[in-house]
Amino acid sequence: MNIDFSTANRIIFGAGRLSYLREIIGHYGKKVLIIKGKEFPDPGTLFTICEDANVVWNYFNVENEPNVKTVNRAVELGREKECDFVIGFGGGSVIDTGKAVAALLNNQGSLLYYLEVIGKGKPLRNPSKPYIAIPTTAGTGSEVTRNAVISVPDKKVKVSMRNAYLLPEVAIVDPELTYGVPKTITAMTGMDAFTQVIEPYVSRYSNPMVDLFCKDAIPKGASYLLRAWEDGNDHEARENISWVSLMGGLALANAKLGAVHGFAGPIGGMFHVPHGAICAALLPSVMLINMKALSHRGKNFNKLTRFEDIARWVTGVENATIEEGVEWIASLCKNLEIPRLSELGIKKAHFPIIIDKSKKSSSMKGNPIQLTEREMEKILELSY
Ligand SMILES: [Zn+2]
Repeated sequence: MNIDFSTANRIIFGAGRLSYLREIIGHYGKKVLIIKGKEFPDPGTLFTICEDANVVWNYFNVENEPNVKTVNRAVELGREKECDFVIGFGGGSVIDTGKAVAALLNNQGSLLYYLEVIGKGKPLRNPSKPYIAIPTTAGTGSEVTRNAVISVPDKKVKVSMRNAYLLPEVAIVDPELTYGVPKTITAMTGMDAFTQVIEPYVSRYSNPMVDLFCKDAIPKGASYLLRAWEDGNDHEARENISWVSLMGGLALANAKLGAVHGFAGPIGGMFHVPHGAICAALLPSVMLINMKALSHRGKNFNKLTRFEDIARWVTGVENATIEEGVEWIASLCKNLEIPRLSELGIKKAHFPIIIDKSKKSSSMKGNPIQLTEREMEKILELSY
């Protein structure tokens, strides 16, 4: 058994735990750069905590997904204000921006020098400035992963900055911050979190440590996602979905993902569509086609057993078949009013290019079996 596990230096989880920041914020310096979303949620408490601790704060708003320009502008502000550390307070895009900014504040040069694929992909020389990641949605688990996804609009791609130095110093996951997140965002981010505990469990790189997170989180995602969507103030449901999101981050960072994310990366670069919506639209058909591919030509039957586990956990039925599990997830997507690929502006004419790009994406390598082009096309057709 070979395991190489890494995560944030410290994880603080629980409703109301944002207040714990008071106890530790002074350890990281006197000046902080706060990276946050533009409108939601209200950063008032965060500002008060800084003031009480005599920490001078400056903030930078992230309006959409982070792109090269946004990150470079935030870094300029951090350098100009001589910030000692960085706090990210927002959804996955904000958390990712914060990672890249904290890294660049302690390393020379601009973002392009370090980006994969379109940049030079150089490794970071120095550790990042201390970074405290505080997610305010339950979805990406980015507070415990070592990459930041950056979009490059003129090239229509999303690429990663990837380095162990990007792991935050502290991750504060406070489910209270997700109370009242609007329904559509709850559905999409929640389905991303759910996918991120399913894919690592069947991944080619699954390992016994990550299995523990997935085994705990898959049944919880199934039990609580609809409840969190129906009532944004259902505290028990919100807490559980925040937990699933955190488990997803731990799992994907240490066992990779699969075809859902293999497709979602390139589609997200080509179309302006929320990541979670793409994942949700694809998840049932990816599971179905993977199951068929594994039954017809797979050598690794242990992976099929894992799909059976998932079917049992989501349906709550002891002898549920994989098809029944897939149907259960498809009906969850319907209940959450998740759009189909055709409703996300994707045309069938785009399929060949999507398939071509997805074959090369890094998440596709985690898929339990290498899919043929025909199988990939079938997944897109079934999700259309
Ligand atoms: Zn995802």
